[in-house]
Amino acid sequence: MDSFIPLSVPSFQGNELKYVSNAVETEWVSTAGSYVNDFEKKIAEYVGSKHSISTVNGTAALHITLLESGISSGDEVIVPTVTFIATINVLRYIGAEPVFMDCTDDLTVDIKKVEKFILNECIWDGEKLINKTSKNRVAAVIPVDIYGNFPDYEHLESISEKYKLKVIQDAAESLGSHCISGKYKNKKAGILAPFGCLSFNGNKIITTGGGGMIITNDDQAASHMKYLTTQAKDDPVYYKHNEVGFNYRMTNLQAALGVAQLEKLDEYVEKKRYIFNRYNEKLSNIKGLSFIKENERTYSNYWFFSLVVNKENFGIDRDQLMAYLQDKKIQTRPIWVLNHKQKPYKNCFAYEIEKAYYYYDKILSLPCSVNLSDDDLGRVIGAVISAKK
Ligand SMILES: *Cc1c(COP(=O)(O)O)cnc(C)c1O
Repeated sequence: MDSFIPLSVPSFQGNELKYVSNAVETEWVSTAGSYVNDFEKKIAEYVGSKHSISTVNGTAALHITLLESGISSGDEVIVPTVTFIATINVLRYIGAEPVFMDCTDDLTVDIKKVEKFILNECIWDGEKLINKTSKNRVAAVIPVDIYGNFPDYEHLESISEKYKLKVIQDAAESLGSHCISGKYKNKKAGILAPFGCLSFNGNKIITTGGGGMIITNDDQAASHMKYLTTQAKDDPVYYKHNEVGFNYRMTNLQAALGVAQLEKLDEYVEKKRYIFNRYNEKLSNIKGLSFIKENERTYSNYWFFSLVVNKENFGIDRDQLMAYLQDKKIQTRPIWVLNHKQKPYKNCFAYEIEKAYYYYDKILSLPCSVNLSDDDLGRVIGAVISAKK
């Protein structure tokens, strides 16, 4: 009997148990432990930032960076329609509204369309950008590194400077990727914008169970964001608070797991790339199948592998292939429902969405755990090939 091959599960083959045991044995389990500081320091070293601020998850990291960016109720924020919904939900936490953008052929947000939207749909009054239709301020952009690929940050920076837009890099999926061309060459995921947000959710490339991190080089913002994540406490004895804070700091237990996982990150990136290359070698010469690959500016962590299934040539469509593989105990998954079609956001402004629809129907993510064996890899490849009609 064939065993079940999951889409993505974490791997704990390093010092995880040792460090977590140490946290328990020393009775430092909550937010004031040495692993939290250590994990922050090591992440900052890894990505090459001055600061990093741990959070309970990636969503909390995005929430805090939006607050720190001065985005508030009534503001609009440009976001991709192709992303996990957390990128969008944080806007509503602060009363802001999304403006949805299309993707390019690598699934990342189309910066040319962002520029076109600004030129055609907005007015620049010399101080701020106003959406002509809603009359609201367009205050920020949250580009997302979908499945490890970078959008065009260089082009975005020229736009954001001109129109005073804040930029927050949602790097939840791209830790371990780095830039290989242009102005940001050799820079790592998380520092391609003034603020970057990471996630260590269970299915991300490294995990703390649940956790996140804010990346920045801004001294003042860093200390204020740490203050916000720790209940905005101004006096540790009398518990005086001058702002509304959050209980968002990562715990020592989570960070202990994180320190051990970070030791494996480079190995995991190479393993992901190895698995992707095997899939690509065996499957992309089959009629009707192709992969979304790393773009010209990214050395990708290949967090997820997106197979594009064209029914006309492959004989069956994406959903039929998913069901076929499910029968063979192979778990795969389509890309997220486009966010401008999700119920809470269906009435929001969506600008010239075209490519996103094309990919929404066709993408299937194949098993991508770093502990996927060569046998299992072969089984997935064989099963996909045998599904062709
Ligand atoms: C996972 C993810 C998040 C949210 O991170 P959590 O740690 O699950 O809160 C945000 N954005 C994107 C693109 C993600 O993939």
